[in-house]
Amino acid sequence: MPKFVLIGSGLAGGLLAACLGRRGYDVDLYERRGDPREGSMLEGRSINLALSTRGIHALQQLGIADEVLKHAIPMRGRMIHEKSGGLHFASYDVDPNKHINSIGRAALNTTVIEAAQRSPNVRVHFNHKCTGVDLDSAVAHLETPSGNVNARGDAVIGVDGAFSAVRQSMQLKIDNFHYEESYLAHGYKELTIPPGSNGSWRMEKNALHIWPRKSFMMIALPNPDGSFTCTLFWEFDGPRSFATTKTDDEIRRFFEEEFPDAVPLMPNLLKDFKNNPTGSLVTIRCAPWFYRDKVCLVGDAAHAVVPFYGQGMNAAFEDCVVLDECLGEFPQDRHRAFAEYFRRRKVNADALADLALGNFVEMRDKTASKTFRAKKKLDHFLEAALPGIYLPLYTMVTFTRIPYSQAACRARVQDTIVYAVLLAAILLIAAFGVRLLQ
Ligand code: FAD
Repeated sequence: MPKFVLIGSGLAGGLLAACLGRRGYDVDLYERRGDPREGSMLEGRSINLALSTRGIHALQQLGIADEVLKHAIPMRGRMIHEKSGGLHFASYDVDPNKHINSIGRAALNTTVIEAAQRSPNVRVHFNHKCTGVDLDSAVAHLETPSGNVNARGDAVIGVDGAFSAVRQSMQLKIDNFHYEESYLAHGYKELTIPPGSNGSWRMEKNALHIWPRKSFMMIALPNPDGSFTCTLFWEFDGPRSFATTKTDDEIRRFFEEEFPDAVPLMPNLLKDFKNNPTGSLVTIRCAPWFYRDKVCLVGDAAHAVVPFYGQGMNAAFEDCVVLDECLGEFPQDRHRAFAEYFRRRKVNADALADLALGNFVEMRDKTASKTFRAKKKLDHFLEAALPGIYLPLYTMVTFTRIPYSQAACRARVQDTIVYAVLLAAILLIAAFGVRLLQ
């Protein structure tokens, strides 16, 4: 059987190793960090994530979905926090059973790595940092605490995240390699709402909390220990921004003005704000995602997206399923399998990147408006009235496996028809009113 060298045992790396191991391939998985089970976790990355249908489907393929979901907290809708302290809950779907799941990154990462290690033909090597790949010979160069080593495979797969070393080697070697990165003017910082007494949750547990404030926002996802992880998405620079908010007074004043109901729940606010890193938010698009039958990119390494649709990991898991299927369809022709995987996924990764950017505006600004809430109610009404015919965009992205590009296209068509019908109805009513007056 061919041997795969995988670089990066993050969320997608562990899952892909498990898929390839199950298919009988020989797999060596190299990770620059230490073993997450020994506490060496991903500082500066989101502590919890929203897992939804696409991700769950991938976990089901390996029989580990139930194990993962045991540790998840269902989030049935958005809880909007107004500055005045008012709260509005809007369910994600007309079907109350449809929810997204808050899941700890560390627990999920450990579960997928352990799933991979159940195959005797998968070996995981921590503290091995890839510094580059020789594409033609499928050799990865690795730095380890005891010196440099090379890992040779029949193919190398870069599952090494947004700042992929494997992708950088492709950029250097492949003529006309397309690469595009764009950063938001916003960064993010994680803060904590600790559990209440007896490990209880101090806000509604089964919701994703949003404090929309037009140009910025804070969100909070529940954790199993009764805490919430809050993430503030805010401008790096500007008159009111991370850059200008440094002292205790400035931090306290900003939070008391913008998130007055959250401040009493955040006893460690000042410490968290000053000590936790401020992360950046990048969209990366590149092409191609493969080099002959030798190298391939998966997950954020191929297509990092901003986190506002809660789909980066879900899409990375979907990549693993599609690549696994393609290898199954073309077992004797890995080049064809890589090319087919790229063809099936690239258009969808590009569509997701656009959807994720668009959803930032929706979350931080529109969720606070009455028009937005009315549109969501109309969406739910139409979904119930036209089952299987009308599907809101959020439902298609989050609760189905309809390819992202098709979902985006179908939503545009639906919106055009709905707005045209509404306009026609308004014109008809107006015309009828004019006739009555004559
Ligand atoms: P990563 O998880 O980044 O894993 C890459 C791995 O490769 C890491 O373990 C890293 O240490 C290793 N590595 C890197 N370089 C090297 C090297 N040179 N040599 C060896 N190893 C290396 N997605 C969702 O679906 N839902 C959410 O709710 C969600 N929320 C998010 C919130 C925030 C704030 C952010 C930033 C992202 C969020 N995402 C979410 C996106 C999600 O985190 C990523 O899409 C997902 O982690 C991608 O998985 P990956 O395995 O491709 O990359």
